[in-house]
Amino acid sequence: SLSGKTAIVTGSNSGIGLGIAHELARAGAAVVLNSYTDREEDHALAAAMAAEHGVDVRYIKADMADGKECRALIETVGACDILVNNAGIQHVAPIDDFPAGTWDAVLAVNLSSAFHTTAAALPKMRAAGWGRVINIASAHGLTASPYKSAYVAAKHGLVGLTKVVALETAREPITANAICPGYVLTPLVEQQIPDTMKEYAMDRDEVIEKVLLERQPSRQFATVAQLGGTAVFLCSEAAAQITGTTISVDGGWTAL
Ligand code: NAD
Repeated sequence: SLSGKTAIVTGSNSGIGLGIAHELARAGAAVVLNSYTDREEDHALAAAMAAEHGVDVRYIKADMADGKECRALIETVGACDILVNNAGIQHVAPIDDFPAGTWDAVLAVNLSSAFHTTAAALPKMRAAGWGRVINIASAHGLTASPYKSAYVAAKHGLVGLTKVVALETAREPITANAICPGYVLTPLVEQQIPDTMKEYAMDRDEVIEKVLLERQPSRQFATVAQLGGTAVFLCSEAAAQITGTTISVDGGWTAL
């Protein structure tokens, strides 16, 4: 059980982050939900999760595009036994048409945020004598697709950062790993379907079958619950010697 542990999941009012938060709460951890908004429904998500799993759940607003806010999130919570760097954004465009400001934003949210949160969290893990850093990379942290330059670069970078964190904590009871999901049908994937339809001149069903699931030999989307289960496994004693590596949850994508 993860009771007594505090988990901070960045970008967790939606999709994979929310799914991982649910599974960590189900396993007994106190959970901190986060995004850059501060709406009633964000706090309601925390209340519902606390009621469902009987654990402490808080929602804290912090913009993962801003390094100072990343660090402040960890400091505000005070404890951080499990850090899940999940916040991420996507933009689909050819390089010569890719807005420079969007490149910077994707790198900030998908990569630099993990540097800042990890820097703030490691002293807390060391003080507690236990820690888990779980970075949500992607199959695009290991392979590439056209039109996703910033995302692919950031996710490859996140896999590299994961390895360095693992080496710097190798002699301590702390592990750092990256989970590399294939396609999961979340708002992030929904939002890229229109641009992908344009780039490939396809309709929605063709994009899902021929562009998205084409990469996934299982021909099925992975689910947020499966990603949550993988995160809980990485927090278990069985995973204590798993560090500095990637776990793919991608229906066979990276075997192709
Ligand atoms: P999503 O859009 O549902 O979730 C993204 C989350 O990040 C949301 O909670 C959003 O509010 C938050 N977020 C975005 N910008 C933020 C910011 N500046 N500050 C704080 N929070 C911010 O998408 P998702 O698919 O659940 O994505 C979660 C992670 O999983 C991302 O890192 C994504 O790259 C990765 N991923 C997703 C897929 C997929 O197929 N959906 C595949 C591989 C990797």
